[in-house]
Amino acid sequence: MENLIYMDNAATTAVKPEVLEVMLPYYTQAYGNPSSIYTLGQNAKEAIDAAREKVAKALNAKSEEIFFSGGGSESDNWVLKGIADLYRDKGNHIITTKIEHHAILHTAQYLEKHGFKVTYLDVDKDGLVDPKDLEAAITDDTILISIMFANNEIGTIEPIGELARIAKEHKILFHTDAVQAVGNVPIDVKELGVDMLSLSGHKIHAPKGVGALYVRKGIRLPNLIHGGAQEKAKRAGTENVAGIVGLGKAIELATENIEQKAKKISELRDYMIENIEKRIDFVKLNGSRTKRLPGNINFSFEFIEGEGLLLFLDLAGIAASSGSACTSGSLDPSHVLLSIGLPHEIAHGSLRLTINEDTTYEEADYVIEELVKIVDRLRDMSPLWHERKNK
Ligand SMILES: *Cc1c(COP(=O)(O)O)cnc(C)c1O
Repeated sequence: MENLIYMDNAATTAVKPEVLEVMLPYYTQAYGNPSSIYTLGQNAKEAIDAAREKVAKALNAKSEEIFFSGGGSESDNWVLKGIADLYRDKGNHIITTKIEHHAILHTAQYLEKHGFKVTYLDVDKDGLVDPKDLEAAITDDTILISIMFANNEIGTIEPIGELARIAKEHKILFHTDAVQAVGNVPIDVKELGVDMLSLSGHKIHAPKGVGALYVRKGIRLPNLIHGGAQEKAKRAGTENVAGIVGLGKAIELATENIEQKAKKISELRDYMIENIEKRIDFVKLNGSRTKRLPGNINFSFEFIEGEGLLLFLDLAGIAASSGSACTSGSLDPSHVLLSIGLPHEIAHGSLRLTINEDTTYEEADYVIEELVKIVDRLRDMSPLWHERKNK
């Protein structure tokens, strides 16, 4: 895979060598059980504490507010099911949005089957939630609001501070799925005023299968896994020590000079957006132009099927993603693209490229050249395209 150009960092990222390096000793040398009292165990416990400290620092939280989990989906499930269970006598209404990750959406649907009412807020054509809509959706029965920090498909960054303030005014708990935002944009949980926040390791160059949940001090959250006393007995089970150490290192690296890196990546993102718009007709940028994750590029190409695009890109050594049918295992195009108002046929021709700090202009140019050729070729095979051209 030497010549692979990887532009699917929103799906997962490579573990950084520096991250792997600090993890390895916890497999073969410092392999003790963190609950054991001898030195080997205590060394592992100290490593977990140090990682917790690093995650807390990256979010401006306290280390006792950080709980390690098995990833973003687990953190999301923990919050929704846990809060629903704990407050079911107080109210049965939850508010979220139509563009959440399936870890939130499918959990909300599960809760609906168990007697909860869920409001799925609409978004505008850029994918933004209107704070007035949130305000209007709140009822006396609302127990939880969960709105994603940044969207994984179109990269739109929501006005989380403002939304969290509305929740606070109504004394309702506010959670944000920040899996795509952590390590890409600066986050300060205290300044934002969020009560709970989910993050995942493998989106920020740590391994898969490890994540964390920030839970503001004073908030009660039920135990997710019963058993031993790990994670204050909230998530029992011997800790994934190496994974946790990796997450600590990865979040530390990601948040170092985060503003500078975000600026640099955004410049390359905008260069790609500008050139794709210049070189290809009948394209539409999905998501907000300004309130956008630094590494996210998402276009719809009319008269094109996303699968065909991905296949030809793969042949050209480019890994990317599409919001269309087959890739998601269902016949419907992405719920996110439909929610921002794209008609089915246009949503089917969408492409997501997600770059990172290592992406070069040379790679960007190659991807643009290939894309121009592939779009041309695919459109040439489309009778609809020829009809349109002849008009
Ligand atoms: C990837 C992702 C998740 C799921 O995280 P996992 O660690 O893969 O379970 C949840 N939410 C968003 C926004 C994501 O991008």
